[in-house]
This record gives sequence, structure tokens and C-alpha cells, in this order.
Amino acid sequence: MKFDALFRYCPVCGSPEFKPGNIKSMRCSQCGFVMYVNPSAAVAALILNKRDELLICIRANDPEKGKWDLPGGFVDEHETAEQAIQREIVEELGMKVDAGKYLFTIPNEYLYSGWTLPTLDIFFLFQVEDDFIPVPADDVKDCYFVPLNQIDIEKFGFVSMQKALRMFLLNR
Ligand SMILES: [Zn+2]
Repeated sequence: MKFDALFRYCPVCGSPEFKPGNIKSMRCSQCGFVMYVNPSAAVAALILNKRDELLICIRANDPEKGKWDLPGGFVDEHETAEQAIQREIVEELGMKVDAGKYLFTIPNEYLYSGWTLPTLDIFFLFQVEDDFIPVPADDVKDCYFVPLNQIDIEKFGFVSMQKALRMFLLNR
């Protein structure tokens, strides 16, 4: 559910006079509080090994539990996207990586706790050596390398991941 249907009371004064202002804001006519909902920044990694295999993760949790995913997550406050993706790779795969190469961004929606949060997913490419042996942790249930010509795009849970793989495979 989008924020303007989900949020019914002003988070500052509790008034029910908390109504959509424009497409990305809500305004309280009691206390004047205005809340904007802009996309949250998120990062994702395409990790390729020397055999042209892509690292696929299996999601351990909702949303899209059990579906294919790429390593990644939300950018923290005061963190760069470059720092965020390297942190996520350590947290989810137990591996440190050198800086990745920026690829592109794709808008996405992240449904959690009944709230459809708009995100902007930032994709990076990492080339890794054969000694890159990930140990899945955090919200990754399992992970393994899949040859690029065997990637089943429909197995990805998030639309942004499907789009990213289509773009990436088209432009290789
Ligand atoms: Zn208010």
C-alpha cells in the first residue's frame, strides 16, 4: 500500500486531518506538518567470476522470500552507495571486495509491513577471482554462481532485478 493510503494520522500531533498534499507528500491541516516520501536509495551487486558466472542469492526473508536476488540492501544514513554495497557484500557473503563499477539505476518498489516503499536501486559490477567463495549470511539463505547463459530472469523476485539483468545481458 502506498503511503497516502497507509498513513491515517499526523505523526506529530495525531490529527486525522493528515491528507495527501501532492503525489509524494502528506500535510496536516491541524499543525501544518508536511511529510515527503521520496525514494530510498538501495544498492545491488552483479558479481561475475572469471568463468562468466553470476552470483545469485536466494532471499531468506520477505519480501520475495525464496526468490532469486542480487546481493545488496538499503544505503545507511551518511553512507555513500559505494560504501553501502561493499558493506552489504561483507554482511551477506562474508567477503571483502575491491571497488565495483557503477552500472545504472532502476526504480523499484519494496513492500514491507504493508508499506510499498519507493526505492532507487543503484547497480554495481564486481569482477572477482576464483578464490571468491561466499558464505551466505544475514538475509541471504543460499548463494551460488550461475553461468550467464543459464540465468532465468523470471526467477528474480524484484522487477528492478529483472530489468537490471535484461539491461546487463543486452549490453554485454
Ligand atoms: Zn499534525
